[in-house]
Amino acid sequence: METLDKLFEDTLRDIYYAEKAILKNLPKMARKANSTELASAFETHIEETEGQVERLEQIFEMIGKSPRGKRCPAIDGLAEEAGEIMQEAKDDMVRDAGMLAAAQAVEHYEISRYGTLAAWAEKLGLSDAVPLLQATLEEEKLTDQKLTELAVSEINVEAGNAAEKNETNKPRAPKKVAAK
Ligand code: FE
Ligand code: FE
Ligand code: FE
Repeated sequence: METLDKLFEDTLRDIYYAEKAILKNLPKMARKANSTELASAFETHIEETEGQVERLEQIFEMIGKSPRGKRCPAIDGLAEEAGEIMQEAKDDMVRDAGMLAAAQAVEHYEISRYGTLAAWAEKLGLSDAVPLLQATLEEEKLTDQKLTELAVSEINVEAGNAAEKNETNKPRAPKKVAAK
């Protein structure tokens, strides 16, 4: 990796791969979501993500490269974790809480990537790319905030109630001691 513009291009390919992976995984999560609020938050973000992919394609064009993804092991790992949560959660509400958290982990990865790309675009004098990267960065931040609000106001509350209902989570009754 000899130059910043090469690093910029590689990182652009990394997030391009990640956004495509997200477009594959978010619909599955929206279908699995029990809360209609959570499902609609995921669906809204699917639409936003489609626009984000288009912005990335515009930036590839600006730097004279064809849009091509580069495998991102981070997003693959986050998707794998989300898949495990979806399979292993026994309670619908607990699964929602787990999926919401998994989605926030993805948003945080994206926030990090887009923040970096916007700063590098600035440095490289790619002034037309900067506002595109910043627009996506804002969408990722707002999505993260929306998910936090949903977790606190609804999803975590119901997941907590689910734990109370679940017999196996109740403290075991003390053993009866035989009277002498
Ligand atoms: Fe995104
Ligand atoms: Fe990556
Ligand atoms: Fe996102």
